[in-house]
Amino acid sequence: MLPHTLIEVTSFGRMPREGGVHMYFSKKAVVPVEEEETDVWTCSTDGCTCWMRDNFSFEKSPTCPFCQGEMTKDTRMLPVLMNHSKRNS
Ligand SMILES: [Zn+2]
Repeated sequence: MLPHTLIEVTSFGRMPREGGVHMYFSKKAVVPVEEEETDVWTCSTDGCTCWMRDNFSFEKSPTCPFCQGEMTKDTRMLPVLMNHSKRNS
């Protein structure tokens, strides 16, 4: 009668030793992260810390997915996103 989640956690813990997953995470951790001023939307509700990048080009101000509050344009220093989906248009 073991919970399903417990089984998953156990098998996940073994994976790094058997495969190359552990090496991947170690390598990623030491890569220097470049930051740049990034456009973001932040929730204007007191006590709500929700924010999102402005990568999606909203036509109008989005609403907070958590409290449905109004979101305002802001900027933050954020790690530069590598664009893996480069397309030649
Ligand atoms: Zn909110």
